[in-house]
Amino acid sequence: MFKNAVEKISKFYEIDLTKNSHADEMFDVLNEIVKFDSAAVFYLAPNSLSLQFGKNFELYHDIKINEKLSKILYDKSSGEITDIVKKLIEKKHILAVRLCVKDTVIGIFVIERENEDFSFDEKLIFETCAKIVANLIKDLELSNVLKLQMKAMQEGLIETHQSYEVIKKQNKKIKENEKLQNKFLANVSHDLRTPLNSIIGMSEALSGKFFGELNPKQQDYIEDIKIAGLKLLGMINEILDITKIESHSLKLNLSEFNISDAVFEVCNIIKPLVLKKELVLDTNIDKNISIVADYVKFQQILLNLLSNAVKYAKSKIIINVSLKDSNILISIKDDGIGIPKEHHRKIFGKFYQVQDTLLKTETSTGLGLTIVKEFVKLHGGKVKVISAKDEGTEFILNFPQK
Ligand code: ADP
Repeated sequence: MFKNAVEKISKFYEIDLTKNSHADEMFDVLNEIVKFDSAAVFYLAPNSLSLQFGKNFELYHDIKINEKLSKILYDKSSGEITDIVKKLIEKKHILAVRLCVKDTVIGIFVIERENEDFSFDEKLIFETCAKIVANLIKDLELSNVLKLQMKAMQEGLIETHQSYEVIKKQNKKIKENEKLQNKFLANVSHDLRTPLNSIIGMSEALSGKFFGELNPKQQDYIEDIKIAGLKLLGMINEILDITKIESHSLKLNLSEFNISDAVFEVCNIIKPLVLKKELVLDTNIDKNISIVADYVKFQQILLNLLSNAVKYAKSKIIINVSLKDSNILISIKDDGIGIPKEHHRKIFGKFYQVQDTLLKTETSTGLGLTIVKEFVKLHGGKVKVISAKDEGTEFILNFPQK
């Protein structure tokens, strides 16, 4: 009997686990070694042993795991499980063994004979076969798991590729939309600027008394129209500038000019606002410093910083221009509410506004400092802020003197 078993046992390893018939082949090999009428492999499920493969095993399916079985099943030192399984499946001549992978019980293997009990030798041989079967099952399960993983990976790859294509298309669409949006904004801004320039120009002419004297009320109102027009123009210019920055269509129109001239011109533009808020605007400018820059953009930088200073100053704004180690330093300082440290970097980002300092009476886009930073960068310069809450704010521009 043992000789026959040794000769046949290697047949287990010839079974092709990828074939659907592997369970039948396994039972056939076993039947050549230990004769049985029916056989079954049960896997451990949470509360039962569920029938996985069976041969002539139609009488029952799952075996309920009661407390008694549970106790003996997991404790391998507690000995055989045959007697308890025998009672549960109500068969007379059976052999039941645990199926273990390493030290873990993964299920049980049961064989049954109608008319004759199993001998001790058969029991020993069956136990050995069960060990081989447990290993085969482990390989089988692993190959199934691998197959599933391979499938999932392939699907994942396909999905990833599909997502990539979708993202690529969406990106293209976003870029096209951005272009359209920028073009639209540029057109609208341009169309708005033309009538606004007329409004500002006419109100300047009226307040300059080119067309005769105005009474105090008319003078007041015309100043208001001019200021509102200037603010609106500032906002439109900011939108126009940011669209140009984003579409990388900014070009510098360089020329050499005297900084003090540019600063005084900007001070004149901002003067109505300064007067309205009853602020003092002091300048301390070295008159001999010239710079090579884009005149319009240079003025826009100053205008943005100065209009912020006017918005927040309590009583005073000071503009300083000096030369230090071939660097032109321009400082615009106010005595306003200040900017807490944690916002210093963020205020240069698009649309960023320090919420608790926002002034409801003022127009703002959150673009002014973004434009300042970009324009300064285009000129090879740097901008930094020195400020703290309630301690005023100073913006310092640093341009290399070419
Ligand atoms: P806007 O002024 O249109 O809101 P900016 O980009 O020019 O946008 O400024 C961003 C934010 O930085 C402002 O909303 C304000 O909170 C803060 N800020 C800028 N300049 C000053 C300043 N001189 N004093 C206090 N806060 C300032």
